[in-house]
Amino acid sequence: MKIELTLLIGIAFAFIILLAILIDLCATKKIVNVTKKIHLERKTCDVCASVFFFSIPSKFWRCSLCGSMNKEK
Ligand SMILES: [Zn+2]
Repeated sequence: MKIELTLLIGIAFAFIILLAILIDLCATKKIVNVTKKIHLERKTCDVCASVFFFSIPSKFWRCSLCGSMNKEK
């Protein structure tokens, strides 16, 4: 009976470790996917020539330094 109990605990621990590894693998996969999705676009202001990076592509964007509107080339 005692041996069975320790075996059960061992199996339970092994299962928990396996589950933790699986969760960790899923989490790292999600992080990789997120970093792949983020695509930074380099844009230069026509007025003050300052460089900005945007993750969301848009036709028009406002320069945060001089406040002028810029159009996608
Ligand atoms: Zn500017």
